[in-house]
Amino acid sequence: MEKIKMKTPLVEMDGDEMTRIIWKMIKDELLLPYVDLNTEYYDLGLPERERTQDKVTFDSAYATQKYGVAVKCATITPNKQRVEEYNLSQMWKSPNGTIRAILDGTVFRAPIIIDSVKPVVRNWKKPITIARHAYGDVYKATEYRVPCKGTATLSFKGENGEEFSKTIYDFECPGVIQGMYNKDSSIISFAHSCFKFAIDTKQDLWFSTKDTISKQYDQTFKLIFEDIYEKQYREKFEELGIKYFYTLIDDAVARVIRSEGGYIWACKNYDGDVMSDMVSTAFGSLAMMTSVLVSPDGKYEYEAAHGTVTRHYYRYLKGEETSTNPMATIFAWSGALRKRGELDSLPELVRFANLLEEACIDTLNRNIMTKDLSGLVSEGTEVTQVSTARFINEVKKALEAKLYL
Ligand code: NAP
Ligand code: MG
Repeated sequence: MEKIKMKTPLVEMDGDEMTRIIWKMIKDELLLPYVDLNTEYYDLGLPERERTQDKVTFDSAYATQKYGVAVKCATITPNKQRVEEYNLSQMWKSPNGTIRAILDGTVFRAPIIIDSVKPVVRNWKKPITIARHAYGDVYKATEYRVPCKGTATLSFKGENGEEFSKTIYDFECPGVIQGMYNKDSSIISFAHSCFKFAIDTKQDLWFSTKDTISKQYDQTFKLIFEDIYEKQYREKFEELGIKYFYTLIDDAVARVIRSEGGYIWACKNYDGDVMSDMVSTAFGSLAMMTSVLVSPDGKYEYEAAHGTVTRHYYRYLKGEETSTNPMATIFAWSGALRKRGELDSLPELVRFANLLEEACIDTLNRNIMTKDLSGLVSEGTEVTQVSTARFINEVKKALEAKLYL
């Protein structure tokens, strides 16, 4: 078979530790033999970030703006211990944070579902995708520990002379206060990313806040979403037969649990933080969570939701064979290649991405799986627990059978 050709380069962001090892295995075994991979390579591994003083991270984000689609390997976000381990000149910021800030994007996380791993919530049949607004609110709040009796005030001074001042509370004893904010521009970007992704994946979009209690703050989110939907997306949604649906967060939680899945749930920053951990745990394994950053102008960066799986890497360094699950990283590649294929009108590339995913799912449904999953399967399932290399090899066989059919 002739290798599948690509038109536009795909931005490739390499990463760290175990996922960097898996990255190469996936490329060598599952991609390069079949696709004439046209990537623009950026090494986001920590040594290269240190060498370039993090310039490589910025460059990779600019390249994503230019070409529109990227695939990213998990990377280390340095902490104090990593600064020592890698002898860093600075505690470099999280690459994901940097890329997200440049692309102004929203992160969508969705589980990969297989027959033998049943979600804790029995009626969930399809993935629930969580969209988290990753800007502002409590994450950028100003806080103060009130030490004694006194008055706390919320005040604003406008450039145009507008002034606002209101007592928050007259403290009769010690307490706490917090001032948080968000920006219309960021909420607007969030809304566009959500509506675009719903159209892209042909799924309903749910959005929830607590606007009955937060009559200015959360209400602003609700109104901005409504306005953008009515003016720019309603028609397209109706054409596709998908819905935009707003409800209170507590109502949303109840509906999510009763639902069978198959929609996008857009959440404010804190809600998304909490709910995405709940939803991913209920679906099974972090190793089966995919993640895509979507910018309001339709740029895409695909990755796995998990980290660099450090503990497995140390075992790998000792020469041990690991059973690390490559699913989410393979799906980052297939997601990115499919998107590239769609944008460049390359049906062969889209077909390849679909078959690669099918090959993975088929392999898992034959109960050939890595260690993390073998502990999650329903009772009575007979599992063949394999190493990462063997799993990838099984996927390769399944893929070839499909490709050459
Ligand atoms: P992690 O790498 O996601 O791993 C946490 C644990 O989850 C692992 O120790 C492993 O459990 C299990 N696990 C995760 N992915 C797995 C997979 N593919 N297959 C099998 N098991 C898997 O998170 P972490 O240990 O908190 O962070 C490690 C490094 O990753 C940190 O330096 C952090 O900064 C970075 N990180 C990067 C990203 C990103 O780039 N998006 C996200 C999160 C964290 P067992 O060891 O029990 O098998
Ligand atoms: Mg969290």
